[in-house]
Amino acid sequence: MNYSVILPVFNEQENLESLYKRVVKVLTGLKEEYEIIFVNDGSLDRTGDILMELNKKNNKVKIINFSRNFGHQIAVSAGLNFATGDKVAILDADLQDPPEILPKFFSRLDEGYDVVYAVRKKRKENIFKIISYSVFYKILRLIANIDIPLDSGDFCVLSRRMVKTINSFPERNRFVRGLRSWAGFKQIGLEYEREKRFAGTSKYGIRKLFKLAFDGIFSFSFVPLQIMFILGSTSLFLSIIGIFWAIYMKFFTTAYARVPGFATTTILIMFVGGLQLFSIGIMGEYLRRVYDEVKQRPQYIIESKVGF
Ligand code: UDP
Ligand code: MG
Repeated sequence: MNYSVILPVFNEQENLESLYKRVVKVLTGLKEEYEIIFVNDGSLDRTGDILMELNKKNNKVKIINFSRNFGHQIAVSAGLNFATGDKVAILDADLQDPPEILPKFFSRLDEGYDVVYAVRKKRKENIFKIISYSVFYKILRLIANIDIPLDSGDFCVLSRRMVKTINSFPERNRFVRGLRSWAGFKQIGLEYEREKRFAGTSKYGIRKLFKLAFDGIFSFSFVPLQIMFILGSTSLFLSIIGIFWAIYMKFFTTAYARVPGFATTTILIMFVGGLQLFSIGIMGEYLRRVYDEVKQRPQYIIESKVGF
């Protein structure tokens, strides 16, 4: 198999026809063997039926049906597990990533690159998403121990060697673009203009976006823990000074006779209490991940496979 295209789909019934047409046109143009792997991430609309029709029309269309919605990152990972192509592309099913640029991307793999990832020139999205994405990427770049290029998403093409490498990562909380960057080899980013979603609405709700952001930060950085340590040791240092000060005031002055300092006490208790809860929350986030990995549950459950 030469080319694999992975398409994660969650309730994308309005997009599938045009998506299929455009992808097939591009792949046919390459004049080599190909497969199109749709990962149906627990869709509730007609996505499953439409995919079956596409498979009947073209046996190069393969379908993985999940038993429920497992999320975009897991769907992409499943696609990577089953793709057999020497060159593997990952793109969104809403046509935000134009399939027409794939030949250019694939050809760069021949130059010895293992990853050619797409870098967005412009985002045609709402201002809230643009701002939060840009803040997130800046934070991630600052604190993550990998170099995730600004404004690159999951849209990319990978060599077989890279697919194998990513498949060998056993972790469950997957942030695919992070794993891709972490793996190394030769990578290059190419600019493109991200289109508007063709039809339907975004399948990434606020909860899913937050999960993605948290997976990026907590899977690739220990800086939150280090900040906790710095804040904790600073407040310990300050409190030691405070204790000596209080002892001095108590035994060597008469200032405490009138019991002042109610505001100071309240503020300190609230601040330190808040800091402690925040720190425990951060620890909890790491602990949750450790627990999740230790359980060794499968990443996803497949209900059925078609065309394999
Ligand atoms: N997607 C998925 N599972 C989910 C959410 C999204 O497979 O739980 C797919 C979706 O069908 C699309 C891609 O992931 O092909 C990107 O989602 P979307 O376009 O909604 O995200 P956005 O572009 O708004 O960030
Ligand atoms: Mg989209």
